[in-house]
Amino acid sequence: MTGLGVGNKATVLFSPPLSRYLSPMSASFPPLPPPRPADLLAWYDLNHRRLPWRVAPSDRDDGVVADPYRVWLSEVMLQQTTVAAVKSYFEAFTNRWPSVRDLAAAPEEEVMKAWAGLGYYSRARNLKACAEAVARDHGGRFPETEAALVRLPGVGPYTAAAIAAIAFDRPATVVDGNVERVIARIFAVEDPMPTAKPEIRRLAATLTPEARPGDYAQAMMDLGATLCTPKKPACALCPWIASCRARAGGAPETFPRRSPKAARPTRVGTVHVAVRADGAVLLRRRPPKGLLGGMSEVPGGEWREASLGAGAAAPPLAGAWRRVAGVVEHTFTHFHLELTVMRGDVAHGVAAPAGFWWSAPSDLPGEALPTVFRKAIAAGLGRVI
Ligand code: SF4
Repeated sequence: MTGLGVGNKATVLFSPPLSRYLSPMSASFPPLPPPRPADLLAWYDLNHRRLPWRVAPSDRDDGVVADPYRVWLSEVMLQQTTVAAVKSYFEAFTNRWPSVRDLAAAPEEEVMKAWAGLGYYSRARNLKACAEAVARDHGGRFPETEAALVRLPGVGPYTAAAIAAIAFDRPATVVDGNVERVIARIFAVEDPMPTAKPEIRRLAATLTPEARPGDYAQAMMDLGATLCTPKKPACALCPWIASCRARAGGAPETFPRRSPKAARPTRVGTVHVAVRADGAVLLRRRPPKGLLGGMSEVPGGEWREASLGAGAAAPPLAGAWRRVAGVVEHTFTHFHLELTVMRGDVAHGVAAPAGFWWSAPSDLPGEALPTVFRKAIAAGLGRVI
């Protein structure tokens, strides 16, 4: 830490790497004043986003303290997911399970169902395991230090820092994608991502203040989310415009630098949507480990490289199966998937094979079905579920 907190400005000017600001690095970057956390905090006080899990600065002044359970839950939900998508899930979770003990006591299947649609399902399993660990090993209270937090299931260095800063106001350096972008631009980091990550983290740590570190962490996130956006940063409104080397260079949107992207491969597969006469759909549970582990699915075959073709997949029940026109497409982080959907119509009395169950039309929306299988079922049924 550089001691950049409010009222502690004297130490700033001689603290590396901010000393870089005092001498020209190159002809294209003139000397700039160092970014001051106090300026960012003043901006945050007026411009912070209002979020259901957040304690606003004015509320903090009135003595409201952050609830570590809500901070943790929101941070886990926000990994790889947008704020807009998370809000309704957060409200539903906290209404149903208001405390970490409530979540720890919930049946895992119910948690998975409530998580369905948020994606990255290993987070839901870790969520439950973490709640149980906090309830069992910590008396229902989250530990306050990064070192202790990072030992909880599913809590990595980022989440540990976020909880320590936001819930306990500890001077932890919180670096998510938004913060990476801001730091890469402020310091005009030339290394491409992800090579630049350690340097960005080191630079971010030089700015983390002792004063109001929780608000500062959230201010950094808000700056990246609302002004310092990927394509068109609103530099004219930025509290750090005078310190931003990328902006001074004239092309801030080109930071962080990127390596050329590897092409995302396409995989193909087949799924079977068996529909009983009363509209029920045949489902089964995926294995607990691996992609979409523990979630529900319609049965199908292996997902293979597109060059190999979808391959044969045995239908789960005998009967007349027909191919649904087109394919269902879904993009995962590391590959794109094209699914052929087969529909089979089954008489009312047909029993589900071992390991499967019939999900009635009224139950389908509440099943722990990842989006890709919701799409497949919708294609099979010819309607959204
Ligand atoms: S001046 Fe522009 S590019 Fe630099 S941090 Fe602010 S919004 Fe981002």
